[in-house]
Amino acid sequence: MQTIIIGAGIAGLAAAVRLAQAGHTVTVCEANGGPGGKLSQFSLGEYRFDFGPSLFTMPQYVDELFSLAGEDPAEHFRYVRLPDVCHYWWQDGTRFTAPAATDDLARAAAATFGVPAGRVADFMADAARKYELTGRTFLEKSLHRAATWLDWSVAAALLRIPGLDLFRSMHAVHARDLGHPKLIQLFDRFATYNGSNPYKAPGLLSMIPHFEHHFGAYLPEGGMFDISQSLFELAQRLGVHFRFNTRVTEIRRERRCVVGVTTSGGSLPADNVVCNMDVWLAYDKLLPGAKKPARTLRQQKSTSAVIFYWGIRREFPELGLHNIFFSDDYAREFAALEAGELAEDVTVYVNISSKLVKSDAPAGCENWFVMVNAPADTGQDWDEWTRGLRERVLTRLAQQLLAPASSAPAAQDLEALIVEERIVTPPQLEALTGSHQGALYGTSSNNPLAAFLRHPNFSQEISGLYFLGGSVHPGGGVPLCLLSAKITAGLLAARHPPAPRSVA
Ligand code: FAD
Repeated sequence: MQTIIIGAGIAGLAAAVRLAQAGHTVTVCEANGGPGGKLSQFSLGEYRFDFGPSLFTMPQYVDELFSLAGEDPAEHFRYVRLPDVCHYWWQDGTRFTAPAATDDLARAAAATFGVPAGRVADFMADAARKYELTGRTFLEKSLHRAATWLDWSVAAALLRIPGLDLFRSMHAVHARDLGHPKLIQLFDRFATYNGSNPYKAPGLLSMIPHFEHHFGAYLPEGGMFDISQSLFELAQRLGVHFRFNTRVTEIRRERRCVVGVTTSGGSLPADNVVCNMDVWLAYDKLLPGAKKPARTLRQQKSTSAVIFYWGIRREFPELGLHNIFFSDDYAREFAALEAGELAEDVTVYVNISSKLVKSDAPAGCENWFVMVNAPADTGQDWDEWTRGLRERVLTRLAQQLLAPASSAPAAQDLEALIVEERIVTPPQLEALTGSHQGALYGTSSNNPLAAFLRHPNFSQEISGLYFLGGSVHPGGGVPLCLLSAKITAGLLAARHPPAPRSVA
């Protein structure tokens, strides 16, 4: 069974492992020079940076791939659980370090924000309940197969939906359940974990903190790229053939059946094509003449980002691995994003992997990944915007981080510490990772029906064509991309019952 995977993003790599293990002969065609897609890495001088994802949850979905191949995950892929998840900073000087464990989080929130400890504990219990009732249904199965809907657990989950805040916004749920404005903002931020807007995304998504605080937040020992690299190596051990610098230009079909692909390096035959490329661009570029699922492809994009990668020639002990500097007006910030604009006052995320991976920066220095949520690219003047944004971000961070040493810290004081710099904008995200409009997570979840409106993991028109990754069901983010590979492998197994594989 010849199967071609288009793209070596995290979902493509996971699918390569699963399909090779199921007996397919797998070739991965990747336009870039190496694996990982958004989950890749690069260096600036002596500083190493993960290109995109920085928060790692649900490591069991990676471990599972090694176990499936009969290997011990701990021998090939090691990670640490974080005791504290995130350091939050507000402009009025309030600071809060969120412990990972749910009970500790409730106690710490009570102490900092003066709310009863039971309030956050009850909220987290509700998040757990939402996940338990719907997580497996919406995340681990295809929503586009009759068999899913004939499963009694799915029917039971659907019956409970009215009580799960599907038709109330996340923000409304947080306002109702948490009361304190800073706690509301803190939990509203979880909407950005899939590029959504807390004022529009359904309250059911208030389950997201459960992933971080119950299942835990982690960092691979060598940084996030370890995830891609270890799966790439596993796939190679299973006999998967990788063709890098090979762009697929067409998915070839005959009588509505896949027969192969055309690439920048020639044609390849295939019984199945598994597409890890952004689904919008796949229809636009690879499937000329194919019927497009218009409503699915019209869904609102997730947010994109402007990212500053800075090599900093100093250490900041008050910062942790994950740091958030909140804007004063979250509603205005998201209203601007909805309008395709950037607010004047923005929330700034700073990730510093060298806090744990010492080799990521020279001694006494830090590698800062500084990210600001931005609208998907629709032709804005990113050069102009980025210049102004850089100045505002430097000013904001200088005021919060350099104030003890200087009474009136300015952007230049922090700028003077930058020894290496790279800036990535939404159009560059599209060019580098093939993500339509630079969206970080495919389509947003700003609609209660978003889960049902994502593209299925298979083509309803072309036999042998499958889709996975952040732009299709169940959505963006590393854990969901890994699940999309699992669902797709299951669909392929149903079509071609697996032949047991002998590992040499
Ligand atoms: P992608 O990574 O999108 O890769 C697709 C691959 O296909 C690319 O390598 C591309 O070159 C290749 N390709 C495209 N077209 C072709 C073609 N025609 N021929 C051959 N190859 C092609 N998620 C988290 O879980 N935690 C985070 O903290 C987090 N933060 C993020 C921060 C940023 C800045 C970004 C960009 C994303 C972040 N995400 C995060 C989201 C996460 O990175 C993505 O959801 C996930 O990595 C997408 O994986 P994918 O399998 O869909 O493939």
